[in-house]
Amino acid sequence: MKAYTLYGIGDLRYEERPLPEVRPGWALVRVLAMGICSSDIPRIFEKGTYHFPTVLGHEFCGQVESVADETDKTWIGKRVGVFPLIPCKKCISCQKGQYETCSNYDYLGSRRDGGFAEYAAVPVWNLLELPDSVSNIQGALLEPAAVALHAVKQAKITSEDKVCIVGTGAIGLLAGQWARIKGADQVVVKGRSEGKRKLSEACGMEYHVSCKGGYNCVIEAVGSNQALEDSLTMADAGGRIVLMGNPDGDRKFSQELYWSILRKQMTLIGTWNSSYGSPESDWTEAVQTMANGTLTVDAVISHLLDLPDLEEGLEIMRNKQQPYCKIVVKIS
Ligand SMILES: [Zn+2]
Ligand SMILES: [Zn+2]
Repeated sequence: MKAYTLYGIGDLRYEERPLPEVRPGWALVRVLAMGICSSDIPRIFEKGTYHFPTVLGHEFCGQVESVADETDKTWIGKRVGVFPLIPCKKCISCQKGQYETCSNYDYLGSRRDGGFAEYAAVPVWNLLELPDSVSNIQGALLEPAAVALHAVKQAKITSEDKVCIVGTGAIGLLAGQWARIKGADQVVVKGRSEGKRKLSEACGMEYHVSCKGGYNCVIEAVGSNQALEDSLTMADAGGRIVLMGNPDGDRKFSQELYWSILRKQMTLIGTWNSSYGSPESDWTEAVQTMANGTLTVDAVISHLLDLPDLEEGLEIMRNKQQPYCKIVVKIS
């Protein structure tokens, strides 16, 4: 099979590889579509994966080709979304079913081989059947959609809330959509330039390049000092700030900004990954909301590429010379 394998920092190879081994309890999934995550860029070019070589890719969907166990035979031929986190199922979080905070997890596409390939091995437990109304391309966006929902749930949004999303990445725009679905009175996206106005408006949200205050819920969806500063500045007294963006380095607060957290009695809320494995989980809600057309994930797709051109997508995201949002790669 063809796969994108990381052999070292900056050493990504599109190569021929043997099919992954399918262990008991696992399935072989023929990958149909995959999304490039912004976390893949530092993973490839700066930090690397946990060991080399690793097939990258944690946002993907596919069709079950084969299974190791007789009892899993009913999965064969089904189109599936893939929860990329493989929990230990032993730690305290796992015992509570809060797999996203597992303290000893494995992860497709960073800790073990993932889905930037024609085939991927996935535990059957991590497969979620896709309804016919969810396309392959939409199926590849299930992971970011669930992550965005998870963040919005942390914010406990009500119809009283005026929400500002700081940042225009795919997860930010999806979080904005979720905030509207959850009934927020107003949802505004704050970007840095005019480049993302059209995409944000296509997601049904007001777009602002400069934003002052007036929000009681802010979702920080960048992971930079500037975005955190903007978020704290825009939140009203008593406001909640959901910290969603992966930090690009250490955070520094000016004394004045720190004072504002105290004086405005703000609540800072962390969010991580997404919940999975129960009917109330983010993944189940994401797939249902996608299937009934309420969540329009297609609106965040800026580029659609074929598998041999995946590196073009990485370059677009790395050099930031043109506006982009979600870059999806399809096979078929
Ligand atoms: Zn991701
Ligand atoms: Zn665990």
